[in-house]
This record gives sequence, C-alpha cells and structure tokens, in this order.
Amino acid sequence: MTEHADVERRILIAEDDPVSSKLLEKTLEKIGYEVVSCTDGEEAWNTFRRDAIPILITDWMMPKIDGLELCRRIRAHESASGGENGQCEEPHCFIIMLTAKSQTEDIVEGIDAGADDFVAKPFHNKELRVRLKSGERRLSLERQLVEVNRKLREADQLKSEFVSIMSHDLGTPMTVIKSFAQILLISAMGELNDQQKHAVDKIIEGIDRLDRLRKDTLEIARLDLGRIELKKEEARLRELIEESVSGLRSLAEAKGQDLRVELEGKLETVCDRGRIAQVVENYVGNAIRYTQEGGRIEIDGVDEDGRIHVTVSDNGRGIPKGEEENVFRRFYRVGEKVEGSTGLGLSIVKSIIEAHGGSVWCESTEGEGSSFHFTIPKS
Ligand code: ADP
Repeated sequence: MTEHADVERRILIAEDDPVSSKLLEKTLEKIGYEVVSCTDGEEAWNTFRRDAIPILITDWMMPKIDGLELCRRIRAHESASGGENGQCEEPHCFIIMLTAKSQTEDIVEGIDAGADDFVAKPFHNKELRVRLKSGERRLSLERQLVEVNRKLREADQLKSEFVSIMSHDLGTPMTVIKSFAQILLISAMGELNDQQKHAVDKIIEGIDRLDRLRKDTLEIARLDLGRIELKKEEARLRELIEESVSGLRSLAEAKGQDLRVELEGKLETVCDRGRIAQVVENYVGNAIRYTQEGGRIEIDGVDEDGRIHVTVSDNGRGIPKGEEENVFRRFYRVGEKVEGSTGLGLSIVKSIIEAHGGSVWCESTEGEGSSFHFTIPKS
C-alpha cells in the first residue's frame, strides 16, 4: 500500500541501454510500479503524449531525442495544455534524470530543461526509492491543489449563476414598486401632502439606486459566465464616440464643465458597437461625476499602429498614488461615496475591452485630474 493512494503507480522509463533498462524495470516492478519502457527519447515522448504517465525516469544521452529535449518537450506540452486561463488541470509529470553527470552546470541545465530530480548511475535501490517517494509526495500535493482549484471554479460558477438569477428576478418586483410609487406621486390614488410626496420621492430614488446596482451586478455575473457575446461588426469610432458623448453633454453643462472631443480620422475598427459605447459612456460619465463644477474634460481618439487608442482626461479630483489599478477592481471606490456610484462600472469596462483583445489603464494625480485609456485592435 502506497503512502499516496491518489498517485497512479505508473512509470515511464526512457533508457537506450537494455541492461540498465531491464534492471530498472525489475527493481520498480518489485516495489509495485507498473512500468512502460522505451528505448529512445522519441518513443518516450510519443508514449508520454498518448498515455500521460505521471512519473518519468529518463537517461540523459539517448538516440533521436536526448533526456534534456524530452524534458523540454514535456514541460512545453504541459504549459500549452493548461486549462482556461492557463490553469493546470493535471499534476505535472515528475521527471527523474538518470545521470553520471554531477557537475553543477549539468544539474543546472537539467533543472532548467524541466527535470525535478536526479539519480546517479549506476543507481542504488534505496536512493531510487526515496526519490520516488518525494516525487509521489509532490504529485499528491499537486493533485490535491488541482482538485481544490476545480472545486473553487465550480463554486465560483455557482455563485455567478446565483447572482445572475437573483439580480435578474429582482427586476420585476422593483418595477412594480416603482410603478406604484409613481402612481401615488401623481395623486392617482388620492391627494398626497408635501411630506408624503417627499417620502414617495425618496422611495423612487432608492429604487433607482438599487436598480443601477442590480443591472451592474447582473452584467458582471453574465460576463463571468461568458454569457455576453460580442456582436462584432465594422464600426467608425468617431461617430460612435460623438453619439455617446452627446448623450452626456447635458450632464456636463449642468455642472458648467467644458467637454471637448478631439478625434483623429474616422477611427475605423471591428467591435461590438453597443459595448464600446458603454465603455465610452462609463469613462465620460465618471469624468463628469468626479470633476468639480466648471472643470475640463477631453476625449481624444487616435489611430495607432494596428489599434485605436481612446483617452478621457479630466482635471477633477484625481486618484491617490498607487490606487490607479485598483479602480478597475469590483466594488472598488476611492474616497467618499458619490451619489449613484456602485464601484462596478470600471470592472465591466475592463471585461469588455479585454474581451475585444484590448487593454485599459489609468494615469492620475490626486487633486489635479485623471486620464483613463483604452485600446482595441483594429481588426
Ligand atoms: P463608480 O463610479 O460607480 O463608483 P467605477 O467602477 O466606475 O464605479 O469607478 C470606481 C472608482 O474609481 C470610483 O468610485 C472613483 O473613486 C474612481 N474614479 C473613476 N473615475 C474617476 C475619475 N475620472 N476621477 C477620479 N476618480 C475616478
């Protein structure tokens, strides 16, 4: 009975010398391993890819592919076959190199190629056993980690499902509450006095705030679940930005702010128009919200090599040093809470732009203003 029952007891041997190979095979079988033997690196590489054997003992010098190249191929294969976001779905193969080499440079070269451990040739049974034991310990820990990760992803998915259903279903009762409040307000159910009207106004304000939070939360959950598909089409960002900004101009005017748009050329690209308009509106809406009365806001758009770069700058309150990246995190708000703020807008922006293959960032000086950037590829 092995100490690590979750580790498969299969070993791949890559050794071109038949005597050493046989000896190794017998020794390993005696201690309970199922052994697959190959006589050159190429055969071992093909066997590894086909059978995903958890432990490899490989010679250093071999025909066709040597031990170092075998290690490199296995590690490259493991990196490439990582799951979503490069997450590891299976433990990495534990690789032991059989070697007569003991110079530091050789060891460094072996580890650099991906070897985990070394056994001197000719091998001693005891040494081989303890090295395998340590390999199994690592494989077992890695297997547990993979399993925990899988469960976490599952829980995260469930959480997003739950949030998505809740925030969607809350919409109906909220609409009902708001409609009745509006009916009360126009005195359709009897005349209200000023105090009652004020109270109903507060109910409507509260419902509107809740609804903004509900919609943002639903959006985030859907983005997490990959349920928001981009409807990409050819678009001119010049027109799209001008339209988005014109919808917000009255808000800037109400604060006496100077809102300027400086766009170079047509800014042609392929994107989801509605989503990019949402990004522009979020950046510009924030600039208006976080800039004082009489402030200045400028929207710039340029066609750079292979990408469109849009910047929304303001001379508003700015963001403290070191917080610039945090503002793209969920529910992150800097300083005192501002009416209508949910702390979700910029994280939605980030997801949308990244889904387009672009990037977002912000530069800011507290008390002087901020520049929010996004880029998207032209095709
Ligand atoms: P919200 O505006 O709803 O709080 P966002 O995700 O859009 O959420 O923004 C997160 C935080 O980033 C805001 O609460 C604010 O503190 C900061 N922020 C965003 N835009 C600006 C800006 N133009 N100037 C200063 N701070 C900003």
